Amino acid sequence: MKALYYDGKGMVYREDMPVPKPEKGQSLIKIIIADICSTDKEILKGYRPDFRGIMGHEFVGEVVESENKELIGKTVVGEMNQGCGKCLYCRTGREKHCPERRVIGMSKDGCFAEYMTLADHLIHPIPESLSPEKAVFTEPLAAAQEIPTQIHIDPSLNAAVIGDGRLGFMIAQVLALTGVDLTIIGRHEEKLEMFRPFAKTVLSSKYSEDRMYSVEDCFEYVIDATGKADGIRLALKIVRKMGTIVLKSTYSGETALDLCLIPVNEITVVGSRCGPFPPAIKLLSEGKVSFPPVEIFDLSEYEKAFASTAFKAGFRF
Ligand SMILES: [Zn+2]
Ligand SMILES: [Zn+2]
Repeated sequence: MKALYYDGKGMVYREDMPVPKPEKGQSLIKIIIADICSTDKEILKGYRPDFRGIMGHEFVGEVVESENKELIGKTVVGEMNQGCGKCLYCRTGREKHCPERRVIGMSKDGCFAEYMTLADHLIHPIPESLSPEKAVFTEPLAAAQEIPTQIHIDPSLNAAVIGDGRLGFMIAQVLALTGVDLTIIGRHEEKLEMFRPFAKTVLSSKYSEDRMYSVEDCFEYVIDATGKADGIRLALKIVRKMGTIVLKSTYSGETALDLCLIPVNEITVVGSRCGPFPPAIKLLSEGKVSFPPVEIFDLSEYEKAFASTAFKAGFRF
């Protein structure tokens, strides 16, 4: 089958990969559409140096083989972290933190291929009314919906999202639904345009490193979705005292910070990664969130797809 394979140095397009065989408790999924995530680009920069295998974790597919007969023929999306099922994390609802977990497209073969296997309990059928082009946003939208599972957003207060990219757009739509007074801080005038129907926007160049900001210019909740180290630096400057910072950026490398601001200003810092699929499927099916169309490529055009500046680029099979 056709697949995009990571060989430790870069991506290779192959047509000689065998169709995977589902293990016990797994299904075989025929991929319909798979989207590129910034995490995939981080892998190419060295985020997962030990990984060798098929890339990709955002997909919609059809179950073609399964011990669970109810799944066969269903159009589905799927979660990326498969735990051991036995350890304390797995037994207490924290499977995504299992030390033995296998992550599709990062430590287990992913969805940039014609077929992929996945554990049945990670598979979620989608309603027929929801198109694959929309459903493919489930995984990144679920990551945005992780935030309200972690912190209480008081809608009478204010919040800022730093980052005008895809993740920022997902988070902003989820936060806007709470009614909170919402500001998006971004680097690109043209990207900020997209946020204006439901949020205030401001260019990050308006903020300077060596200025102190007044309480009116600061926020109770600051979410870093920049994907870069400078996001948290700005977050520490503009969060109100006793406010909350949510860190969503995953990148390779370290960053130097004045951590003293956290105890002095009594700031809560929350790390946030993958989120719940069912509420994301619900928001997408009910049309409560909307995203620009995915720019579609053939798998063999992977270089063009990875270089695309569209809101989201993906592959159709
Ligand atoms: Zn992703
Ligand atoms: Zn486990």
